[in-house]
Amino acid sequence: MATTSSHLPLNPIKGVYTCPDCNKVHVTFWGEEAKRIYSQHEWEYIVSQGVKALKKITEIMPISDDPKVF
Ligand SMILES: [Zn+2]
Repeated sequence: MATTSSHLPLNPIKGVYTCPDCNKVHVTFWGEEAKRIYSQHEWEYIVSQGVKALKKITEIMPISDDPKVF
């Protein structure tokens, strides 16, 4: 069961991966064992809500798996 929270967790993002199998965005967070799975639509919303946080992240680690996500 994927989380439906519409905001980024407090933990920093460890990795973002668009899954070719289920076509959803798999996101891993530091300090969390389980990854979270978002639909493309959910992820776009989260990104739009968390642009600042994401900018911080992309300075450290470029996220370029799938340009469609953004
Ligand atoms: Zn998947």
